[in-house]
Amino acid sequence: MGHPVTLIRGDGIGPEVTEATKTVIDATGATIDWQIVDAGEAMMDQYGTPLPQHVLDAIRTTKTALKGPITTPIGSGFRSVNVEIRKQLNLYANVRPAKLIPGVKSYFHGLNVDLVIVRENTEDLYAGIEFERTTLEAAEARQFLSRLSGQLIRDDAAIGIKPISVLGSRQIVEFAFKHATVTGRKKVTAVHKANIMKYTDGLFLEVAREVAKDFPNIQFEDLIVDNMCMQLMQNPGTYDVLVMPNLYGDILSDLCAGITGGLGVAPGANVGREYAVFEAIHGSAPQIAGLNQANPTALILSGVLMLQHLGEVEAAAKLEKAVATVIAEQKQVTADLAPEGIEPVGTREMAEAIATAMA
Ligand code: NAD
Repeated sequence: MGHPVTLIRGDGIGPEVTEATKTVIDATGATIDWQIVDAGEAMMDQYGTPLPQHVLDAIRTTKTALKGPITTPIGSGFRSVNVEIRKQLNLYANVRPAKLIPGVKSYFHGLNVDLVIVRENTEDLYAGIEFERTTLEAAEARQFLSRLSGQLIRDDAAIGIKPISVLGSRQIVEFAFKHATVTGRKKVTAVHKANIMKYTDGLFLEVAREVAKDFPNIQFEDLIVDNMCMQLMQNPGTYDVLVMPNLYGDILSDLCAGITGGLGVAPGANVGREYAVFEAIHGSAPQIAGLNQANPTALILSGVLMLQHLGEVEAAAKLEKAVATVIAEQKQVTADLAPEGIEPVGTREMAEAIATAMA
């Protein structure tokens, strides 16, 4: 019996990069019992929802999923399938490693960048508590919040709420320290804006400082998010594990993807107490969908994280090495990775080259 894994193909470039990833994972020798399902806008006609119940049920059964990107239609009733999956399965930790791979174009080559962003995934301004400015609810929220805070809120303001809880902060900071411990990392940096948002980010920081005391072998520091952005541009090699609330995590993980060579090579994982869903940072890239041009590396490296999670440590190391070999050789890589003068290959061909490198 292999490891049961739900494979959500997604849309846009999703079907191409998930197929490529399945090919190379199968080539590692790890046995995976794939349960293939679909989610996204194309499911609306048949199921009346982009996230059919059987997709969530499949993940609850297999406990692990590999997910292709899913387009978020603008202004169509549902916020995002991606956000909904994280919410439904309480995937409170978003883990995004950022590591420089030789052969990938980056302004930061020569620096030893190898860090992990641990982003809180369920709270903050992403909790979805928002009021559209012209609604009665927004008018009531403005009145109520003006009265409570003593601050003037303009009549034409939309309202968004930023909940940060002790529990949410504690579980993500503990996750970051445990992750640092099991992966042999030395330092955790908490990122916040507690100087301005004293009661929300202030709470996050207070909890982080408390949790840090339980992990005396891991160095702890904290940094204000704007300063963190500048430090990452100047000294990205000095950071190890960065832990932060949802919004800063979303922004900084794209910034770190930029440091390490772009969205095409940036993997990710959404992890909770019971379930884990592995997906690339990038979206569905509709401009290149169906053209066999998408770089499969980000999802393949998410597959490496999945193999580690499943305890398939050797298969994970073998796959990561094969990805590094193919990228370093720069001969069988997609257009975004190909150096000038080298004809790029397609998504499928790059995956085949990675599979061959493991043979
Ligand atoms: P995107 O990541 O899809 O694309 C941004 C740019 O990067 C585009 O130029 C695209 O062509 C390029 N790109 C992305 N992935 C690539 C790859 N693997 N290989 C080569 N080039 C790649 O971001 P977007 O355009 O802002 O979003 C498109 C859709 O995806 C939106 O509906 C968005 O909501 C959705 N999205 C989904 C997820 C997810 O499923 N987790 C994440 C982010 C965005």
